[in-house]
Amino acid sequence: MSEDKPKRPRRPATELVHGGTLRSQFGEMSEAMFLTQGFAYDTAEAAEARFKGENPGFIYSRFSNPTVFMFEERIRLLEGAAAARSTASGMAAVTAALMCMLRAGDHVVAAKALFSSCLYVVEDLLPRFGVQSTLVDGTDLNQWRDAVQPNTRAFFLESPTNPTLEVIDIAAVAEIAHEAGALLIVDNVFATPIWQQPIKLGADVVVYSGTKHIDGQGRVLGGIILSADEAYVNDHLHNFLRQTGPTLSAFNAWVLLKGLETLDLRVRRQTETAARVADMMAAHPKVAKLIYPGRADHPQADIVKKQMGAGSTLIAFEVDGGKEAAYRVAGALEIVKISNNLGDAKSLITHPSTTTHQRLSEEARLGFGITQGLLRLSIGLEDPDDLIEDLQLALDQA
Ligand SMILES: *Cc1c(COP(=O)(O)O)cnc(C)c1O
Repeated sequence: MSEDKPKRPRRPATELVHGGTLRSQFGEMSEAMFLTQGFAYDTAEAAEARFKGENPGFIYSRFSNPTVFMFEERIRLLEGAAAARSTASGMAAVTAALMCMLRAGDHVVAAKALFSSCLYVVEDLLPRFGVQSTLVDGTDLNQWRDAVQPNTRAFFLESPTNPTLEVIDIAAVAEIAHEAGALLIVDNVFATPIWQQPIKLGADVVVYSGTKHIDGQGRVLGGIILSADEAYVNDHLHNFLRQTGPTLSAFNAWVLLKGLETLDLRVRRQTETAARVADMMAAHPKVAKLIYPGRADHPQADIVKKQMGAGSTLIAFEVDGGKEAAYRVAGALEIVKISNNLGDAKSLITHPSTTTHQRLSEEARLGFGITQGLLRLSIGLEDPDDLIEDLQLALDQA
């Protein structure tokens, strides 16, 4: 295999097309899909050297695989991370990122507005293994400071948050984490790597669900963990993944790798459309509240300006009339589909209180701002005018 090694530094959109490419002796143009479990060695001595780490190369696809490696390398180069490891899903990435470094007696501080499976990991799973957590309002820096204990090892947050799109000051939280001797782990799915690079803002570890914008066409699941320094991977993550096996398949890695080639183009187009849709909806009489990080009326607009290149592809909005009105809007849409996913080429709408956040009590939901009238909209690649028309007609019926 030969590696595509650039002589000059490359800009992100170029890295997304060429970064990390490995070519076999055939010189194939499109990255090859290596559907293989194992790899053959010329001699027993070569196998021994490979296992000792004296001879670089692949051993077994639970540990690493050329197609999977290309995917990891491409996104690592994009973000300027020291190391990257992929997983079978975004949740496997979140779980591994936390579990690999924590042990009984440790403590985690997390922003409470989390993707609901992330909330399960922090609130239900970690305590079973003796890791306690404190949930804070992520937008209140004093709450992060006050939650620190002598045994705090990790801070965890998403920004923008799901589904209410609050924005947390990543650089400020990173500083508090580092003063406490803890690592900051950021789930960067909603912002996408195009609009926000948490490592550059001081985060130590970044996780993605590749299932969302990275695939971007609603096909496969996958996850990725990026680390600002090699120690986290060498000391914790590498061995955890290798021995427990939440491995990304070569097929899914190939789909995600090809997804990266068009990520910049797609996310920019989806964001431009989202900004137009948000402005139309904010002015609509049936919309009681609209939250879009790209608008000047976003509650944390100053932080958005500091850490995000644009408002990204999601919009949250509330209609008066609770669940019935929200269902009427969702039901009246023709182009926008009802689905709990996001980041797809197809525009999607979800009613968080009865789907993604159904597991929570109504009281907890209201604490997160998830009312019965709240809907979350993921903007796709359709013609913006068709989407605006579809949403306008549906809102008229709220
Ligand atoms: C979807 C999502 C996840 C989980 O990803 P999967 O690939 O579905 O496991 C985690 N965090 C956020 C913010 C997500 O949107």
